[in-house]
This record gives sequence, structure tokens and C-alpha cells, in this order.
Amino acid sequence: MTIEKLLELIKEYNPEEVDIIKRVYEYADMLHKGQYRQSGEPYITHPLEVAYILAEMHADRDTICAGLLHDTLEDTNTTKEEIADLFNKEIANLVDGVTKLSKMNFSTKEEQNLANTRKIITSITDDVRIIIVKLADRLHNMRTLEYKTVFKQKENALETMEIFVPLAYYIGAYRIKSELEDLSLRYLKSDKYEEISNIKNKIEKDSNECLTEMMLKIKRILDAENIPNEIKIRTKNIYGIYKRLSEGNKLSDIHDLLSLKIMVDEIKDCYQVLYLVHKEYHPINEKFKDYITNPKTNMYSSLHTTVFGPGNRLIQTQIRTFDMDKIASFGLTAYWDINKGEARRVMQEDLKGKYQFFKSLTEINAMFGDNKEFVTQVKNELFSDKVYVYTTKGVIIELPKGSTPIDFAYKIHTDIGNTMVAAVVNDEYVPITYTLHNKDRVKIITDPLSYGPREDWMDIAKTSYAKRRIKEFNKK
Ligand code: MN
Repeated sequence: MTIEKLLELIKEYNPEEVDIIKRVYEYADMLHKGQYRQSGEPYITHPLEVAYILAEMHADRDTICAGLLHDTLEDTNTTKEEIADLFNKEIANLVDGVTKLSKMNFSTKEEQNLANTRKIITSITDDVRIIIVKLADRLHNMRTLEYKTVFKQKENALETMEIFVPLAYYIGAYRIKSELEDLSLRYLKSDKYEEISNIKNKIEKDSNECLTEMMLKIKRILDAENIPNEIKIRTKNIYGIYKRLSEGNKLSDIHDLLSLKIMVDEIKDCYQVLYLVHKEYHPINEKFKDYITNPKTNMYSSLHTTVFGPGNRLIQTQIRTFDMDKIASFGLTAYWDINKGEARRVMQEDLKGKYQFFKSLTEINAMFGDNKEFVTQVKNELFSDKVYVYTTKGVIIELPKGSTPIDFAYKIHTDIGNTMVAAVVNDEYVPITYTLHNKDRVKIITDPLSYGPREDWMDIAKTSYAKRRIKEFNKK
């Protein structure tokens, strides 16, 4: 990796900012002089690679600069003030945000680690770009993990799975998430990784002909209808296959092992394409999903339909607009491209307004002063398995697995929780201790004259949000 290669890429989407980026690079290069990575390369190659990953996402100027400088506060003798003086305050804040808290403030390594994990996770609330730089940093470190000791490899891979993969998921950055998962599996279970990557190669080879045939046929149909399109073939990532197999599924049960991704300009074209695909290839009715009208809680949008492809082979077809595809690959980071100039503000606003995890995270952060309790709660409540249930209006609500109607009620609104008297799930009354399942349709019966939440609801509720509201109510 060289600065020339990085600047080349940046020129493609942001030619005006090349000068400052070059100056930041020269400064970082000077600071890291004489430092080397375990691979033997000069240290500066690492920040350069991180900046390159960010440039691939079309990150804005300050984020690229922060990528170049991200290790300078920790490993060289510059200061936040100096970076602010030389360049600007935004860059200095971002670099400070990705810098670990110094060990001098802690009596044990564990305390330091917990405080740092908390710092990374909560940085999302003031500037999500900090997490994005962290993800790029982690991605490059995982790509070069072979130079570390076996112990370090496992430790980093585990932390990646526990913290960074969920974060990538929550901001919808599937491309980063998939690569981090595969790299982690490679170091955590290398035999499984080998085995599945061989299976994957074989499937790709065996189905190539069938998928190409289907792709060309659909392309001909869409071209004849004058619908501008691009079609790509994709296979599930190695970790994705591993996870499904370890849940007890057979290879043949995994219906999205192979997919065709059809991209078009407009939403109405998506539904037109859906009709044309179904006319040619019979769908399995229950495998159809409309994530355009009902996006996932991380804003993933697409139509999914599994059809009988050539040779009776089941093929998942994903139909979406080009913008949706960008969001599916890069999540929030696609905003850099889609909302040029305004990206940072729109990212922060959308996170607050549209991404369901944001409120829970803010709540957990406010509730748990102790870093260990905070990290444990985030792992249990946000980074663990989830259930997705429907409101009466069909809106999908994300809750941690094991949640009850009480959690649902408080997630919708505090008043609904506080006046809840009964719950109806799939048209039947259930006790409030009922454990919610995927796709449950939940209706909360309220009564403004109710006595309010009983104190023992605290133990029934699973989420911090509900517990806190119940406690507050009973204090009053
Ligand atoms: Mn780094």
C-alpha cells in the first residue's frame, strides 16, 4: 500500500481534498518513523491500509485523515491539541475517539479493557464515524493476524465476534461483517473453516452453469422490458454456512446458499422484476420476504424470493435498487455516497430516529455506571440472539431473545408499559410472563385506570429499558 494508491482512489470521488490528506499522511509518516509491524513492514502501511478501506467506502475527508492518524496518540508523542492546530478539531476528535484510554488510569488490565470496550461502543452516540474507523482498523488487523501469536489470534478473533461483528451488523455494514466473521472463524475453528470453504468452492463450481443460465435469461427478459439492471451471483459467506450447519441444518436446507442479486433504478421496478421472475421461475410462497416495505431493523431493504431455478435447483433471488444495494453492503457508510456533504448529520439523525438499537444502547449506558455491568448488559441485551415481532400495524420490533410482552410494551412507549393490563399474542390472551417468538403479532391492552406496573415485573422484564421505567414508576 502506498500513499499514491490511496490518493488515486480518493481522486475518483473527492478530488478537492487530496492536498490535506497528503499533508496528514506526511505528518503520520514522520511520527511513525522507525516503527515496524510484526510482519516487518514499516508501521505506516497499517494506517495507510485503514485509510484505504475507508476510502473504499467513500468516507469523507476528516474520516480518512483520522484513519491515517488513528494510532498516533497511542504510539507516538503527538497530542490531540497538536493535531487540532495542524489540521482541524474534527480530525482531532475522531482520532481521540479511536484512541484507547491510557493504562495509567486503571489498576488492572481487565478494568482498562472494559473501559475501552465501553468507549468504543458508546462513541456511536456522538459520532458514528469513530466506530467506522475502528471497524476499518479491526478489519486490517484481522487480515494480518497471521503474524501474531496463537494466543493473540484467538483473543482478537473472539473479541471481533463479540464486539465488532454486532456493531457492523447494527449499522448494516454487511460487507465488513461478513469478512470479519470469516476471518474470525479461520482463527477460532480453523478445521471447520477449511472444511466449509472447500464445500463452498465445490457448490460454486457445481452451480455456476445453472446460475449463469438463469442470470442471462432474466437479463434478456429485463432488457426486453426496458428495465435498466445489473445482476450478480453471490454465495453465502463461510461463517454464515457454518452457523446454519451448526444449528443442525443440512446443506440442502440452506435456501440462500446461492443467490442472484438483481439491481434496478427504482422501487417500482423491483416489484415489476419480482413479477417477471416469478412468471419464469416458480417461487416457494413462504420464502418470499418484502424488506422494502418492511425493512430490517438495521435498515436493510430488498425483496427476497426463493424460486425453482434451472435443474430444479432452489435459488434465492434478491431484488433491490442500486441505493439499497449500497446500504446493504456498507450500511450507514453508504450515506457518504448517497448524502454527499450532509452525510455525518444524516447518519447521526437516522441512527437516533430509525435504528432500534440506538435507544437501547443509550438506555443501558445511562443505567450502568460500572463498566463490567455495562459490557455484560450490552452483550446480553444487544449483541445476543434477538426476536422480531410485529405490532398490530405490522411494524417489526427487535427485542432480545427471552423478552416478554412487558418489554414489548415499554419498547413501544413508556405510557403503554405503565398502563398495560393484558397482552394478546396472535389473537390469544397470554400471561405477561409469556416468552415472545419470532413473527408473533403482539397487541397490548391498556387501561388508563390501571394500577401501573407491579414491582415484580422488574424480574419478568428482560430489557434494561423496561426495568428502568418500572423502577421509576414504583418510586413515584
Ligand atoms: Mn491500528
